[in-house]
Amino acid sequence: MDDVSLGNRIAQKVLEGYRKLGSSCKPGTRSNGVKEWTVLAGIVAIDKKNSDLRLISIATGVKALPDAFLHRSGGKMVHDCHAEILALRAFNAVILDQIAYLNSNSDNQIDLVERASEDQLFHFKDNWELAIYISTLPCGDASMDLLCQDESIIEMQDDDPIQFVDPAVTSIVRGRFNYSRRQVVRTKPGRFDSQITLCKSCSDKLCQRQVISILNCMTWKLLNKPVYLKYLVTPNTTDLLHQSFYDRIKVLPNVPLKVLQCSYQFEHDKHSSEEEPSAMSSIKLYSTPESTVEQALLNGLKNGFYTKGNKPLRRNCEPAVSRYAQWQLFKTLRPEFTNATYLQFKATIQDRNALIQDCRKLLSPKGWISTSRDDCE
Ligand SMILES: [Zn+2]
Repeated sequence: MDDVSLGNRIAQKVLEGYRKLGSSCKPGTRSNGVKEWTVLAGIVAIDKKNSDLRLISIATGVKALPDAFLHRSGGKMVHDCHAEILALRAFNAVILDQIAYLNSNSDNQIDLVERASEDQLFHFKDNWELAIYISTLPCGDASMDLLCQDESIIEMQDDDPIQFVDPAVTSIVRGRFNYSRRQVVRTKPGRFDSQITLCKSCSDKLCQRQVISILNCMTWKLLNKPVYLKYLVTPNTTDLLHQSFYDRIKVLPNVPLKVLQCSYQFEHDKHSSEEEPSAMSSIKLYSTPESTVEQALLNGLKNGFYTKGNKPLRRNCEPAVSRYAQWQLFKTLRPEFTNATYLQFKATIQDRNALIQDCRKLLSPKGWISTSRDDCE
């Protein structure tokens, strides 16, 4: 099959899944008539034997939480609700669900994961290749050239301190500041008057996934090998994607993303500057054909569960892709970590942590600025 038809089939699979989402998961029209837009992403597995496609997760969203919101999170608030990052989190949640299924149904099989020969470990089946579809170019470095007509960008000199989160770390730039500068780490874009988020752009995160894999620390612990994406499918490919993704990490061992173009446009794409970004995000996990989870997210929590100010979070507010939800499930699979906190456990995954450090040093040689600690038990 040629690349265009594969790209189109993958996009079609995600778009079909999107159409079936409930209306609370989709952008709407505000009471003043202003239309909302969002970004759609999905993870699709391609069966190498027969090219069949298997949708694993879809997500929408364009928001990230200000760092100042995180002090009451306890692992329950999802910081980064950009679609492609949510779709990857949802992929990990599906893998955890499938492992939990195998653990409690010892005679049964399931489609994505199997038991490995090593004790306590599982294997992502060899017949699958993985693709991520994104309805537009990821924010940050890969999309800076698309911004020329955007009113929210500011050009400046390379030494202007206002562009930095920390003036000592000149290799991390805030949002869209100094937009003509290329191949730097950027925080997620936001309005100038919004509270700062320290989440890194989707370009920076996806770029690093070529080295670290798409597993989180929990699925890394449970699987016998890391799992990488093979394809990135998007309607607007540019040659700059290669520079943004591949050139920045090529000196490290990596599995490069192959970019495939698709010809479908997403119905809730941004069509004009009068449209506003949707505050709502959404996720759908296709853990098995019989068991799916669909949730709308607002302010990093399940829609309807947000409390203002410093009030404690409500029970069951955590989305299925949150750190907290995944950590609770993980501990049932590995009870030896019952008394550890999430961050204590994460510190034990040394091989993965070393890859993260290698990426950070390479992408931002002047240092790294992390989001606030967000631990849970
Ligand atoms: Zn993004």
